[in-house]
Amino acid sequence: MDVSRLWEEILELFFPPRCGVCDLLGEEAFCPACRAAVELLTPPYCVSCGRALMPSAGAEVLCGECRLTPPETAGARSVGLHSGVLRQAVLRMKFDRRRELIRPLGQLLAERVRLEASYPHPVPLDHVTAILPVPLHPRRRAWRGFDQAVLLSRVLSRAAGLSLWENVLVRVKNTPQQIGLSSEQRRQNVRHAFAVRRPHQDRIRGGDFLLVDDVYTTGATLQEAARTLNRAGAQRVYALTLTRTAPTWHLGSLVQLGDEEDGPPGI
Ligand SMILES: [Zn+2]
Ligand SMILES: [Zn+2]
Repeated sequence: MDVSRLWEEILELFFPPRCGVCDLLGEEAFCPACRAAVELLTPPYCVSCGRALMPSAGAEVLCGECRLTPPETAGARSVGLHSGVLRQAVLRMKFDRRRELIRPLGQLLAERVRLEASYPHPVPLDHVTAILPVPLHPRRRAWRGFDQAVLLSRVLSRAAGLSLWENVLVRVKNTPQQIGLSSEQRRQNVRHAFAVRRPHQDRIRGGDFLLVDDVYTTGATLQEAARTLNRAGAQRVYALTLTRTAPTWHLGSLVQLGDEEDGPPGI
């Protein structure tokens, strides 16, 4: 037995592999029981912004907000609501830094891309020029130690066979925490937070892009990122996230308050 294998076995003795969500002992980072408990966000949802709609809504509808103000994204989709096991997985990945969850969660994103064609009013998530992760500000990334959108995008890129452009869309403004802000305040808060890094501006023109992030809350951040790309000449910008804030009529909305609090103020 070589030294590195021996070292691995010693580590496993003290830190045996566990499910990153429920801590069940086992080899899998996302155990079969947790995986089976993931509830996909299926129609009806708004065919534009992807928000969950009351089960009584029709299958091909626009939500009131998109009817009033068309969003910057040409189609936003999420794997599931920000509740239950998926919410737990996202929080543990981010705040407990359970990086082993990145691969199974990235694979869920790839699965969602594959499923899109089977839902009403599909958007071509699998025919984009490149994936662009919604980046953290360098200071926040340094504090957390990793940028979850970038790591998830790498898994998605490999699993779905899509190009990934890192460090093309960058965060130029370190925005204060969004928690407790109204939708309008959030929009103001993230205004001009992103930029297309020189010399990549020409690569954006005429292309279709898929923005990837972990959570879609009010959409202020993703819509601002999309606005930046649209202004740089992108043809269409789509968005894909793991979770999406549960609507007020959903039980999940009761537990998600405070989920965005993830660092000392000002970082
Ligand atoms: Zn589990
Ligand atoms: Zn909508």
